[in-house]
Amino acid sequence: MSILDFFRKKEKKENLWTKCEECKSILLAQELEANFNVCPKCGHHHSMNPIMWANMLLDYHYGVFFEHILPTDPLSFKDTKKYKDRLKALKENASSTEAITIFDGKLSDYPIILSVMNFEFIGGSMGSVVGERFKLACLKAIQDKKPHVSVITSGGARMQESAISLMQMAKTSIAVNLLHQNHIPFITILTNPTTGGVSASFAFLGDIIIAEPKAIIGFAGARVIEQTIKQQLPEGFQTSEFLLKKGMIDMVLHRHLLKQNLQNLLRILFYKNA
Ligand SMILES: [Zn+2]
Repeated sequence: MSILDFFRKKEKKENLWTKCEECKSILLAQELEANFNVCPKCGHHHSMNPIMWANMLLDYHYGVFFEHILPTDPLSFKDTKKYKDRLKALKENASSTEAITIFDGKLSDYPIILSVMNFEFIGGSMGSVVGERFKLACLKAIQDKKPHVSVITSGGARMQESAISLMQMAKTSIAVNLLHQNHIPFITILTNPTTGGVSASFAFLGDIIIAEPKAIIGFAGARVIEQTIKQQLPEGFQTSEFLLKKGMIDMVLHRHLLKQNLQNLLRILFYKNA
Protein backbone atom coordinates (compact mmCIF):
# COMPACT_ATOMS: atom_id res chain seq x y z
CA MET A 1 0.00 0.00 0.00
CA SER A 2 1.41 3.38 -0.95
CA ILE A 3 1.63 6.31 1.43
CA LEU A 4 -1.04 8.11 -0.58
CA ASP A 5 -3.45 5.22 0.06
CA PHE A 6 -2.77 5.59 3.77
CA PHE A 7 -3.60 9.27 3.56
CA ARG A 8 -6.80 8.69 1.61
CA LYS A 9 -7.92 6.04 4.09
CA LYS A 10 -7.24 8.42 6.95
CA GLU A 11 -9.12 11.22 5.22
CA LYS A 12 -12.28 9.13 4.93
CA LYS A 13 -12.38 8.70 8.69
CA GLU A 14 -11.99 12.37 9.49
CA ASN A 15 -14.96 14.34 10.74
CA LEU A 16 -16.45 17.43 9.19
CA TRP A 17 -15.98 19.44 12.40
CA THR A 18 -13.05 19.69 14.73
CA LYS A 19 -12.21 21.50 17.95
CA CYS A 20 -9.19 23.72 18.54
CA GLU A 21 -7.06 22.15 21.29
CA GLU A 22 -6.17 25.60 22.60
CA CYS A 23 -9.19 27.95 22.41
CA LYS A 24 -11.80 25.13 22.10
CA SER A 25 -13.48 26.86 19.11
CA ILE A 26 -15.46 24.56 16.86
CA LEU A 27 -13.92 24.73 13.40
CA LEU A 28 -14.67 23.29 9.99
CA ALA A 29 -12.03 20.59 9.50
CA GLN A 30 -11.59 21.69 5.90
CA GLU A 31 -11.12 25.32 6.93
CA LEU A 32 -8.45 24.33 9.47
CA GLU A 33 -6.65 22.19 6.90
CA ALA A 34 -6.76 24.98 4.30
CA ASN A 35 -5.04 27.17 6.93
CA PHE A 36 -2.26 24.54 7.33
CA ASN A 37 -3.79 23.43 10.65
CA VAL A 38 -3.28 26.84 12.28
CA CYS A 39 -6.40 27.81 14.25
CA PRO A 40 -7.91 30.89 12.50
CA LYS A 41 -9.29 32.07 15.85
CA CYS A 42 -6.28 31.85 18.20
CA GLY A 43 -3.31 30.97 15.98
CA HIS A 44 -2.58 27.65 17.72
CA HIS A 45 -0.41 25.41 15.54
CA HIS A 46 -1.97 21.93 15.40
CA SER A 47 0.15 19.03 14.22
CA MET A 48 0.25 18.06 10.54
CA ASN A 49 1.02 14.65 9.04
CA PRO A 50 3.96 14.21 6.63
CA ILE A 51 1.85 14.48 3.46
CA MET A 52 0.37 17.78 4.65
CA TRP A 53 3.88 19.11 5.34
CA ALA A 54 5.10 18.00 1.93
CA ASN A 55 2.08 19.60 0.25
CA MET A 56 2.73 22.85 2.11
CA LEU A 57 6.49 23.08 1.53
CA LEU A 58 7.16 21.31 -1.75
CA ASP A 59 6.29 22.12 -5.34
CA TYR A 60 3.72 19.91 -7.03
CA HIS A 61 5.84 16.89 -7.99
CA TYR A 62 7.77 15.10 -5.27
CA GLY A 63 8.93 11.58 -4.53
CA VAL A 64 8.68 9.48 -1.35
CA PHE A 65 11.74 7.38 -0.54
CA PHE A 66 12.75 4.41 1.65
CA GLU A 67 9.18 3.26 2.26
CA HIS A 68 10.38 -0.35 1.91
CA ILE A 69 12.19 -0.05 5.24
CA LEU A 70 9.55 -1.10 7.74
CA PRO A 71 9.53 -1.82 11.48
CA THR A 72 9.94 -5.32 12.88
CA ASP A 73 9.85 -6.58 16.45
CA PRO A 74 13.39 -7.86 17.11
CA LEU A 75 12.94 -8.06 20.90
CA SER A 76 9.42 -9.60 20.87
CA PHE A 77 8.53 -6.68 23.13
CA LYS A 78 5.32 -6.57 25.12
CA ASP A 79 4.09 -3.81 27.41
CA THR A 80 0.33 -3.37 27.84
CA LYS A 81 0.12 -4.61 24.25
CA LYS A 82 2.47 -6.59 21.99
CA TYR A 83 4.66 -4.31 19.84
CA LYS A 84 3.74 -6.52 16.89
CA ASP A 85 0.04 -5.77 17.46
CA ARG A 86 0.70 -2.03 17.80
CA LEU A 87 2.52 -2.07 14.47
CA LYS A 88 -0.30 -4.04 12.84
CA ALA A 89 -2.91 -1.52 14.06
CA LEU A 90 -0.78 1.38 12.80
CA LYS A 91 -0.43 -0.26 9.39
CA GLU A 92 -4.22 -0.09 9.12
CA ASN A 93 -4.80 3.38 10.55
CA ALA A 94 -1.74 5.65 10.61
CA SER A 95 -1.15 8.33 7.99
CA SER A 96 2.44 7.14 7.43
CA THR A 97 4.31 3.82 7.43
CA GLU A 98 6.71 4.90 10.21
CA ALA A 99 7.40 7.92 12.42
CA ILE A 100 9.48 9.54 9.65
CA THR A 101 8.79 10.01 5.93
CA ILE A 102 11.46 11.06 3.44
CA PHE A 103 10.57 13.24 0.46
CA ASP A 104 12.64 14.35 -2.49
CA GLY A 105 11.30 17.48 -4.18
CA LYS A 106 11.67 21.18 -4.76
CA LEU A 107 10.87 24.09 -2.46
CA SER A 108 10.06 27.05 -4.73
CA ASP A 109 12.30 25.51 -7.42
CA TYR A 110 15.17 24.75 -5.00
CA PRO A 111 15.79 20.96 -4.84
CA ILE A 112 15.79 19.60 -1.27
CA ILE A 113 15.50 16.39 0.71
CA LEU A 114 12.66 16.79 3.22
CA SER A 115 12.25 14.47 6.18
CA VAL A 116 9.07 14.79 8.25
CA MET A 117 8.29 13.09 11.54
CA ASN A 118 4.78 12.03 12.51
CA PHE A 119 3.65 12.19 16.16
CA GLU A 120 0.68 10.00 15.35
CA PHE A 121 3.04 7.03 14.85
CA ILE A 122 3.87 5.88 18.43
CA GLY A 123 4.43 9.48 19.55
CA GLY A 124 6.97 10.17 16.80
CA SER A 125 9.34 7.88 18.66
CA MET A 126 12.74 7.10 17.19
CA GLY A 127 13.20 3.39 16.54
CA SER A 128 15.54 1.62 14.14
CA VAL A 129 13.50 2.56 11.05
CA VAL A 130 13.51 6.28 11.91
CA GLY A 131 17.29 6.11 12.36
CA GLU A 132 17.84 4.19 9.13
CA ARG A 133 15.52 6.30 6.97
CA PHE A 134 17.02 9.50 8.41
CA LYS A 135 20.55 8.25 7.70
CA LEU A 136 19.60 7.31 4.12
CA ALA A 137 18.01 10.76 3.67
CA CYS A 138 21.32 12.36 4.70
CA LEU A 139 23.30 10.11 2.34
CA LYS A 140 20.89 10.92 -0.50
CA ALA A 141 21.25 14.65 0.26
CA ILE A 142 25.04 14.27 -0.02
CA GLN A 143 24.87 12.18 -3.19
CA ASP A 144 22.35 14.46 -4.92
CA LYS A 145 23.95 17.65 -3.50
CA LYS A 146 20.68 18.93 -2.01
CA PRO A 147 20.09 20.59 1.37
CA HIS A 148 18.29 18.47 3.97
CA VAL A 149 15.30 20.09 5.70
CA SER A 150 13.85 18.15 8.62
CA VAL A 151 10.45 18.76 10.26
CA ILE A 152 10.60 17.26 13.72
CA THR A 153 8.16 16.12 16.36
CA SER A 154 8.95 13.37 18.82
CA GLY A 155 8.20 12.02 22.26
CA GLY A 156 11.67 10.45 22.36
CA ALA A 157 13.07 6.95 22.03
CA ARG A 158 10.97 3.94 20.92
CA MET A 159 10.58 2.12 24.21
CA GLN A 160 9.60 -1.09 22.42
CA GLU A 161 13.01 -1.23 20.73
CA SER A 162 14.96 -0.60 23.92
CA ALA A 163 18.74 -0.21 23.40
CA ILE A 164 18.37 -0.48 19.61
CA SER A 165 16.34 2.72 19.79
CA LEU A 166 18.97 4.54 21.86
CA MET A 167 21.66 3.63 19.30
CA GLN A 168 19.79 5.75 16.74
CA MET A 169 20.91 8.89 18.57
CA ALA A 170 24.52 8.13 17.67
CA LYS A 171 23.58 6.96 14.17
CA THR A 172 21.59 10.08 13.28
CA SER A 173 24.25 12.37 14.81
CA ILE A 174 26.93 10.72 12.66
CA ALA A 175 24.72 11.13 9.58
CA VAL A 176 24.36 14.89 10.31
CA ASN A 177 28.11 15.11 10.76
CA LEU A 178 28.52 13.63 7.26
CA LEU A 179 26.27 16.43 5.95
CA HIS A 180 28.52 19.01 7.65
CA GLN A 181 31.67 17.40 6.26
CA ASN A 182 30.20 17.54 2.76
CA HIS A 183 29.00 21.17 3.17
CA ILE A 184 25.36 20.20 2.77
CA PRO A 185 23.08 22.52 4.79
CA PHE A 186 20.87 20.89 7.42
CA ILE A 187 17.87 22.91 8.60
CA THR A 188 15.63 21.65 11.40
CA ILE A 189 12.08 22.80 12.14
CA LEU A 190 11.05 21.89 15.67
CA THR A 191 7.31 21.48 16.13
CA ASN A 192 5.23 20.69 19.19
CA PRO A 193 6.48 18.56 20.94
CA THR A 194 10.17 17.87 20.26
CA THR A 195 11.55 15.95 23.22
CA GLY A 196 13.70 13.05 24.37
CA GLY A 197 16.33 11.30 22.25
CA VAL A 198 15.44 13.20 19.07
CA SER A 199 15.96 16.58 20.78
CA ALA A 200 19.23 15.20 22.18
CA SER A 201 20.46 14.19 18.71
CA PHE A 202 19.63 15.49 15.24
CA ALA A 203 16.95 18.06 16.20
CA PHE A 204 19.57 20.35 17.75
CA LEU A 205 22.30 19.66 15.19
CA GLY A 206 20.81 21.85 12.46
CA ASP A 207 22.93 24.60 10.91
CA ILE A 208 19.78 26.65 11.35
CA ILE A 209 17.24 25.64 14.00
CA ILE A 210 13.73 27.00 13.53
CA ALA A 211 10.85 26.38 15.94
CA GLU A 212 7.11 26.85 15.69
CA PRO A 213 5.45 29.27 18.17
CA LYS A 214 4.76 27.91 21.68
CA ALA A 215 6.14 24.44 20.85
CA ILE A 216 7.31 22.35 23.80
CA ILE A 217 10.97 21.55 23.20
CA GLY A 218 13.28 19.82 25.65
CA PHE A 219 14.81 16.56 26.77
CA ALA A 220 12.99 15.38 29.90
CA GLY A 221 9.59 16.65 31.03
CA ALA A 222 9.48 19.66 33.38
CA ARG A 223 8.03 17.59 36.25
CA VAL A 224 10.84 15.01 36.04
CA ILE A 225 13.50 17.76 36.08
CA GLU A 226 11.88 19.54 39.05
CA GLN A 227 11.76 16.28 41.00
CA THR A 228 15.39 15.50 40.16
CA ILE A 229 16.99 18.88 40.90
CA LYS A 230 14.48 19.82 43.65
CA GLN A 231 14.07 23.32 42.22
CA GLN A 232 11.23 25.15 40.57
CA LEU A 233 11.78 25.85 36.88
CA PRO A 234 11.28 29.33 35.37
CA GLU A 235 7.95 30.13 33.71
CA GLY A 236 7.68 29.16 30.07
CA PHE A 237 10.63 26.78 30.42
CA GLN A 238 10.92 24.45 27.39
CA THR A 239 8.92 26.64 25.01
CA SER A 240 10.22 27.91 21.67
CA GLU A 241 10.17 31.52 22.88
CA PHE A 242 12.16 30.69 26.04
CA LEU A 243 14.77 28.75 24.04
CA LEU A 244 15.08 31.62 21.55
CA LYS A 245 15.77 34.05 24.41
CA LYS A 246 18.47 31.70 25.75
CA GLY A 247 20.11 31.33 22.32
CA MET A 248 19.32 27.65 21.90
CA ILE A 249 17.43 28.12 18.63
CA ASP A 250 17.76 30.61 15.79
CA MET A 251 14.20 31.72 15.08
CA VAL A 252 10.56 31.18 15.93
CA LEU A 253 8.38 31.30 12.84
CA HIS A 254 4.63 31.23 12.30
CA ARG A 255 3.82 28.32 9.98
CA HIS A 256 2.52 30.70 7.31
CA LEU A 257 5.95 32.38 7.10
CA LEU A 258 7.96 29.18 7.03
CA LYS A 259 8.15 28.48 3.30
CA GLN A 260 9.25 32.00 2.37
CA ASN A 261 11.93 31.98 5.08
CA LEU A 262 13.17 28.53 4.06
CA GLN A 263 13.41 29.73 0.49
CA ASN A 264 15.56 32.69 1.63
CA LEU A 265 17.76 30.45 3.78
CA LEU A 266 18.27 27.92 0.99
CA ARG A 267 19.33 30.74 -1.33
CA ILE A 268 21.75 32.22 1.21
CA LEU A 269 23.22 28.89 2.38
CA PHE A 270 23.39 26.92 -0.84
CA TYR A 271 21.78 28.24 -3.99
CA LYS A 272 23.26 31.76 -4.08
CA ASN A 273 24.72 31.21 -7.53
CA ALA A 274 21.73 29.34 -8.92
ZN1 LIG B 1 -7.84 28.10 18.57
